[in-house]
Amino acid sequence: MKNIYDLTLKQLEDYFISIDEKPFRAVQIYEGLYKKRYSTFDEMTNISKDLREKLKKDFSLTKIKMLIKEQGENVNKYLFELEDGNKIESVVMFHDYGTSICVSSEVGCNMSCAFCESGRLKKVRDLKAHEIVQQILIIEEDIQKRITHVVVMGIGEPFDNYENVMRFIKIINCGKGIDIGSRHITISTCGIIPGIKRFMNEEGQVNLAISLHAPNNELRSRIMPINKAYPLNDLIEVIKEYIKKTNRRVTFEYIMLEGINDSEENAKELATLLKGINCYVNIIPYNETENIGFKRTKEWKIMKFYDILKKNKINVTIRKEFGGNVDAACGQLRANN
Ligand code: SAH
Repeated sequence: MKNIYDLTLKQLEDYFISIDEKPFRAVQIYEGLYKKRYSTFDEMTNISKDLREKLKKDFSLTKIKMLIKEQGENVNKYLFELEDGNKIESVVMFHDYGTSICVSSEVGCNMSCAFCESGRLKKVRDLKAHEIVQQILIIEEDIQKRITHVVVMGIGEPFDNYENVMRFIKIINCGKGIDIGSRHITISTCGIIPGIKRFMNEEGQVNLAISLHAPNNELRSRIMPINKAYPLNDLIEVIKEYIKKTNRRVTFEYIMLEGINDSEENAKELATLLKGINCYVNIIPYNETENIGFKRTKEWKIMKFYDILKKNKINVTIRKEFGGNVDAACGQLRANN
């Protein structure tokens, strides 16, 4: 049985047409699910009893299950159980400009970045669109607040699960549904070039972030194995193409690893690499984890790195930190149980 939260409005319309019903029923269902937040068809009394019975036979409304919630300062972390028993995590962050959620896109991850805790658990399977959508629904219900921003930066590589992630975005972006504006949605990739090429042809204004983390090919290959398949120079070329095509600014994420990628030389190299590209760099203080040997760059050195980029006219920010106290920080999302 198909999960109802897995369907775009268009797919639901097609379903109603296929059973000789009016397509506007799809809007009624969408509003029931996403505006009124009904969790049964019986609550949707604007739909006839017969049709409700038919829907019950064709669709399930099952949601993933919240197992654990941990609260930190301006951040909550959630552990969910999927129908097949797999576990995933999401994080919600409370900012002055709104509330953002970091969703997972896969169970585990195959990218094997040397510094990342999430990748220590190899990919078990893709998440279905509905399993990503429901991370939002359940957390909104829990915090009794609307989520305003979505980042696909939890466990998993979104471009390794392209179709489901795109469907997820269509569902949450729909005005009849959760209605999160595309400019408030960001997908982060470790640099899967075919995914970026596909993504630049999608409609909408969804933001793209690239986990860069190194200013040259040799170093990037050392800490991010994906760079061997999609080397840095090719990645930069495709990003230029993406910017030309979409006119959108790209974010480069750069975690600072002590003694690895944080020297003045590295900063200069990075400035040269990104010169003239419509982008900004988000410097991320590394969150140390028990299982991995990398250390966080000292603050004064991060500032030095920042200054060099600034002097070279690169737009740069240092990411505000969340979640250190609940192990919810980037790369520390992992089902310990
Ligand atoms: N696979 C995608 C989505 C995951 S995003 C991607 O690579 O972009 C998670 C982000 O957190 C990535 O930029 C990742 O490199 C970064 N990250 C991983 N471990 C981290 C850690 N311990 N501290 C800070 N950032 C980390």
